[in-house]
Amino acid sequence: MGRFAPSPTGPLHDGSLLAALGSWLDARAHGGRWLVRIEDVDTPRCSPGADAEILRQLAGCGLVPDAPVWWQSRRQAAYQGALDAMLEQSLAYGCACSRSDIARARATAPLRSPGAVPAYPGTCRAGLRGAVARAWRLRLPDPPGSVVLWQDRRLGMQSEDVAARCGDFVLKRADGMWAYQLAVVVDDAAQGVTDVVRGEDLSTSSARQILLQRALGAPTPRYLHLPLVCDAAGRKLSKQAGAQPFAPGAQALLRVLPKLGVQCNAASVADVLASAVAQWRAHRARRLPWSGPGSSGVVA
Ligand SMILES: [Zn+2]
Repeated sequence: MGRFAPSPTGPLHDGSLLAALGSWLDARAHGGRWLVRIEDVDTPRCSPGADAEILRQLAGCGLVPDAPVWWQSRRQAAYQGALDAMLEQSLAYGCACSRSDIARARATAPLRSPGAVPAYPGTCRAGLRGAVARAWRLRLPDPPGSVVLWQDRRLGMQSEDVAARCGDFVLKRADGMWAYQLAVVVDDAAQGVTDVVRGEDLSTSSARQILLQRALGAPTPRYLHLPLVCDAAGRKLSKQAGAQPFAPGAQALLRVLPKLGVQCNAASVADVLASAVAQWRAHRARRLPWSGPGSSGVVA
């Protein structure tokens, strides 16, 4: 089971098409199903109508989900249930710190590893001492339990110490919104997602998501992080940097397929996709042409 999970902050560009197409091809090549989930959990960043436009762009490229689309904004009860279960087991806790409290505590706390971003210092781990919880955080396992080893199908073995990177991270924010990490993990588990195929910029979320899966007793999916599409200046395509929406159709697919190691010169959307699925299936037996240095390069 694969999925594509766009944020509806605007129409899709070539970079997001690559992630959608990669996850669709991988599901199809393995005889699996493919889902679309609209990640509109951070409502102020969402743009009205962007979800419908995204689904129209995908459909115009032949990428049609095998089950009804999910909207994260309709999943509040499931996220609350997951948080309650973790609170019951002391795997999560309330945090009363304001931004300035955290900044002050960080200033006096030594960094746990060289070059790390200052992590949440754990002020509220032992209890709130009468203060009122503003946000809720995951209680990380003590090291070495906070060090996550995970295998990426393209990048190879990865390792991250989440305690050093960010500390006990937020599950529900002070403004009442659910954190991206919690929503993704709860929904991937609820939808039975076995293969996460997404852009490499999200690979740094994987270790946090794996710790959350463990806290919730959910299975860890296989991960494949795809190369990013860059502009002429070598910057990752993004809406913030002004990346243009793509016009749906065979031309859009043909433009991004070479970045997935697929060569194709068919004319119709259906023919392009059929050829791409056959090539993706063949990749399973050999090195991926787009594997970078140091990567294992083998699709399991
Ligand atoms: Zn706190």
